Amino acid sequence: MEKVASQTEPNPFEEMVQRFNIAAEKLKLDDGLYQVLLTPDREIGVAIPVLMDNGSLKVFKGYRVQHSVARGPGKGGIRYAPDVTLDEVRALAAWMTWKCAVVNLPFGGAKGGIVCDPKKLSNAELEKLTRRYTASLIDVIGPDRDVPAPDVNTDERIMAWIMDTYSMHARRTVTGVVTGKPLDLGGSVGRREATGRGCKIVCDRAISRFGMKRENTRVIIQGFGNVGSMAAHILYGAGYSIIGVSDVHGAIINTLGINITKLMAHVHEAKTVAGFPDAEPISGEELLVQPCDILLPAATENQITHENAGSIQARIICEGANGPTTAQADEILFDKKVFIIPDILANAGGVTVSYFEWVQDRQGYFWNLKTVNERLEEIMVNSFDTVASYADRHSVNMRIAAYMLAIDRVAFTIRERGIYA
Ligand code: GLU
Repeated sequence: MEKVASQTEPNPFEEMVQRFNIAAEKLKLDDGLYQVLLTPDREIGVAIPVLMDNGSLKVFKGYRVQHSVARGPGKGGIRYAPDVTLDEVRALAAWMTWKCAVVNLPFGGAKGGIVCDPKKLSNAELEKLTRRYTASLIDVIGPDRDVPAPDVNTDERIMAWIMDTYSMHARRTVTGVVTGKPLDLGGSVGRREATGRGCKIVCDRAISRFGMKRENTRVIIQGFGNVGSMAAHILYGAGYSIIGVSDVHGAIINTLGINITKLMAHVHEAKTVAGFPDAEPISGEELLVQPCDILLPAATENQITHENAGSIQARIICEGANGPTTAQADEILFDKKVFIIPDILANAGGVTVSYFEWVQDRQGYFWNLKTVNERLEEIMVNSFDTVASYADRHSVNMRIAAYMLAIDRVAFTIRERGIYA
């Protein structure tokens, strides 16, 4: 059953539209282009029958939404979660269009999801689910059509199955159909850390705006999956003081700073940050409103809402997750003068290195880590500076500036290509 968005849980697509509307009005976007840009190009729902280990047959629901392919092939991750909805995938696909445009990659935006609880599936069931989903989408994905990648609860192993299934149908190895692959299957060095590294690069830019130093900058991170743990590791390595971390099982705080190397060793064993000996336990909700300089939400949507935004004590919010802040919370935070580095900029490091992976696969020539990281740094710094100067020039906040820049770029491409009739 599809989840119906309730009053207390904002509908992610509506959240995206609210920001889009503000940006479109400022850009004086004409009605026709407004409709084109808000209507997803293609939405696909598939039934995925899987023969379970116990011999029973179970049908899962899967989606792929291609929001726009105006600037290039669709690009965006696939998430596996029990509460995935079409509205969520639709919003995430649109965010990918804006994200790729903000960092100026030659991609459109897409996203996929399967309604499932991967923790309850065996390896064999997960593989069958992934392969059947890929087979159902065989005509609409591909290096020149739509290139999936990891997202919540999907990883390199799942990308390898997608690549293999697609290649079996194509009768040749097609590495460029998906990014975030294992290194020896056409993956790129630096891809796994890329989103976290991108967060660190934009945090560096933000603190230098405020004349702050890394070692005096206290960071709280919500979520310890790929993005949260990599951001923690890289920020810690760069000298930031990480004072609080949470995951789905619990949260910890130590105002003197947490040793992230030790925390990662603890998580490796315990599978959670909870119980880490050199910090105090705290609830996840409480952690978000503790005094800090940077709050880095790296979990899921709608974590900072009108209910807790007023209590947030951070000076900067760096959105590692997609859609962690609601539109209502945005206004409260803006009034409080919290500097938000919006998701479509802050977490764009992941898709940027995905782009590098796609380029390397097409060339069959692989770069070293230094080259990947230097090029990532260049794109993230330029994008941050472009959005910041756009915000200053148009007297808008960073989120609206990022949307305006993205919408302007996509609209320009559509105008230039013209409408095929
Ligand atoms: N899922 C990631 C995102 O939301 C990465 C997408 C990609 O690399 O294509 O940005």
